[in-house]
Amino acid sequence: MRAAIDLYNYQYYVLDAPTVPDAEYDRLFQELQELETAHPELRTSESPTQRVGSTPREGFKEVRHPVPMLSLNNGFSEEDVLHFDRRVREALDRETVDYACEPKFDGLAVSLLYRHGRLVEGSTRGDGETGEDVTANLRTIRAIPLQLPVAAPPPVLEVRGEVLMEKRDFQALNQAQAARGEKLFVNPRNAAAGALRQLDPALTALRPLSFFAYGVGAVEDWPLPATQGELMERLSQLRFPVPAERAVVQGATGLLGYFERMSRMRAALRYDIDGVVYKVNGFGQQQALGFVSRAPRFALAHKFPAEEALSEILDIDVQVGRTGALTPVARLKPVFVGGVTVTNATLHNEDEIRRKDIRIGDQVWVRRAGDVIPEVVSALLDQRPPHARIFIMPSHCPVCGSKVVRTEGEAVSRCSGGLYCPAQRKQALLHFAQRRAMDIDGLGEKLVDQLVDGELVRTPPDLYGLSPQLLAGLPRMGEKSAANLLEAIDRSRETTLARFIFALGIRNVGETTARDLARHFGDLPPLLSAGQDALQQVPEVGPVVAQSIRDFLDEAHNREVIERLVACGIHWPSASPRLPSAQPLAGLTLVLTGTLAHLSRDQARARIEHAGGKVAGSVSKRTAYVVAGADPGGKLQQALELGVPVLDESQLLSLLNQDLSES
Ligand code: NAD
Repeated sequence: MRAAIDLYNYQYYVLDAPTVPDAEYDRLFQELQELETAHPELRTSESPTQRVGSTPREGFKEVRHPVPMLSLNNGFSEEDVLHFDRRVREALDRETVDYACEPKFDGLAVSLLYRHGRLVEGSTRGDGETGEDVTANLRTIRAIPLQLPVAAPPPVLEVRGEVLMEKRDFQALNQAQAARGEKLFVNPRNAAAGALRQLDPALTALRPLSFFAYGVGAVEDWPLPATQGELMERLSQLRFPVPAERAVVQGATGLLGYFERMSRMRAALRYDIDGVVYKVNGFGQQQALGFVSRAPRFALAHKFPAEEALSEILDIDVQVGRTGALTPVARLKPVFVGGVTVTNATLHNEDEIRRKDIRIGDQVWVRRAGDVIPEVVSALLDQRPPHARIFIMPSHCPVCGSKVVRTEGEAVSRCSGGLYCPAQRKQALLHFAQRRAMDIDGLGEKLVDQLVDGELVRTPPDLYGLSPQLLAGLPRMGEKSAANLLEAIDRSRETTLARFIFALGIRNVGETTARDLARHFGDLPPLLSAGQDALQQVPEVGPVVAQSIRDFLDEAHNREVIERLVACGIHWPSASPRLPSAQPLAGLTLVLTGTLAHLSRDQARARIEHAGGKVAGSVSKRTAYVVAGADPGGKLQQALELGVPVLDESQLLSLLNQDLSES
C-alpha cells in the first residue's frame, strides 16, 4: 500500500497526471492510516502518512520553507466532524469553540515571500519542507500583488494561499486544446498545477490562473491579529483576494450548517472546491493544539463526496423515451459517486459514443455532479481489454420492433412506430386526444396513465372499444364521468382529415403541415400511397418532412393502427384534391408589404402560389390586391393612390382557405 501511495503521489504532485480518482487515493490513504494506528510498530517515518506531498520536480531551484507547509486532516462524514470538534473541545477544555470556515480550493498551495513589501520569492509546497521556486511564474498571475500597498511594510511577510484555474478559464483552455488536437486536462486542478510548474514563465502567462490567500507563514514585525477571521480581513486590506464565502461559526452545529450551505453553492461558484476547511479561530488556541506529523490538529478538511469515479461498462442498453428517442445507456459495475451508488449512466447518443470512442468492456470515468444524471465522461484507452466491443445502434426498436430511423443532421435515432410502440403509448394517446387533434374532452394525463397502466388501452383504436363496464373498474371513475368520456370519444369519430393527420403524431408534421397535406391530397388513400416526390409537391414540405412522413407510413405497425382507426368509424367530409380550377387566386397578382403575424414572407408567397396566384414586388394597376401587415411601406400608399384593394392578414387567410372544408 505504501508503494502504491508513493507512486500515486509522484504522478499527482510531480507529473500533474494522476492515474486514479482522488476518492480511490483517499480510501487507500485512510486504510493505511487505520492499519498504522492499529499496529504502531509497523509505522515508519518514510510512510506516506507521515509526509506531505512529494519532493520537488527537477529543473526548479529549491526553496526551504522557514515554516513548514502542511497538509490537512480529512473528514468525510458528519461523524468525522463531530469527532474533530470533540477532540478540540477536550484538548482546549472548552464548552464550545469558534471556527473559521473557508472553501477548500481545489488548486495547489503556494507561499509568497514579501520583503519590505516587495514580492521576492514564490514557491510551491513540495514536500512541505522544500518546495520549487516558481517566482517568475507566480508573477504572471494578476491577482497576486507584486508590492504591498502600505507605507511601512514589514521586513518579512509570507502569505500562503492557493493557485487555481476558474472553471470558465478551464473550459476555454480545454476547448483551445481540443481545437489544436492536443491533450485535454482532466480537471482545473491539474491544469493549474501544470501551468504553474512550467519551466518557461511565458507558458504560464498564457494560461489564466487565479489566487486566493488563506494564511501566513513567517512574519517579522507584523503583529498577528488574534483570530483567523481577522487575519483574512487584514489580508484583504493588503489587496490579496480572499473568498467571500468565508464565515466564523460556533461549534459543530455551525460547522455542519456551513458545510450544508457550501454544498448547495458549490455548483454556482466560479472555481472548483473539493470541500470546506474548518480552522479553530483563535491563534492562541491553534498554538495550544499544535501539529501532528503532516497536519495541524486545529484544522479539518471536510470533503465533498467525489463527483467522478472509475467503473466498467458491462453492457450498453438502449432506452426508448416517450417521444421515441433512443438513448444508449451504459450498464456499469456499481460505483459510489456524487454521494450515491450508480449502476447506469447515459451515453447521450451514437455520435457521442463514437467521438469519445467508448466500448463495451472499457474502464470509464463516470461523473455525477449535483442532481445531474450520471454520465460516462471518457474511457481509459490504454487499459482497453482485448474483448472490448463496439456499440452498434439497433436497426429495430428494442421495445416494439419497429424500424429505427435517424434524420440527416440529427444526432438522435428514433423508433418510427409512434402509434404502436409501448414506450410511446402514453405520449401518442395524449397527442391523439388533444383539443387540436381528435378533441376528446376529458382524456388527460391522469386518465391516460390509468388506461395504459390498467392495460385497457394500448393504441388509439382501443379507445373506441371502451365500454362503461370496462371503465367502471378504474379507480375514481364515476358513472357520470365514464359516460361523458365515452360520449366525447364517440363524438371524435366525426372529424376532419387535417385533424386526423395531425393526431397521428408523425414527426415534423404539426397542425399547419397536416392541414396542407389534407388540402393537397383531399383524402387518406392518396396520402398513404404518396412517394417522396409527391409529398414534396405540398407547400412547405421539404425532403426532411417528406422523409418523416414516409418513415412513419412505411412502418407496418403504424399502418395497422391507422387501418383499425378507420375501421372504428372515424370519418371526415370527403373533398376532392385541389384542382387548378379550384384555386381561389388563379391568375391574380398580389403584393405584400409589412410584417404578417402568422406567416413569414416565404410562407405567404408559397400559400399564394399554391392557390394559383403570383406575388409581385411592386404595385401597378394590374395588381389584384395589396396585403398589408404591421409597419407597411410605401406600397400601401401606392395601392391607395391607384385604387388597388388592400387586404389585411385575416382577409388574405380567408381568401386562401375559401374552398376548404376543414378550416
Ligand atoms: P489536501 O488537498 O487534502 O489538503 C491540504 C491542502 O488544501 C493545502 O495544502 C492547500 O493547498 C489546500 N487548501 C485549499 N483551501 C484551503 C484553505 N482554505 N485553507 C487551507 N488550505 C487549503 O491535502 P494534500 O496533501 O494537498 O492532498 C491530498 C489530496 O490530494 C488527497 O486527499 C487526494 O484527494 C489528492 N491526491 C490524489 C492523488 C491521486 O493519485 N489521485 C495523489 C495524491 C493526492
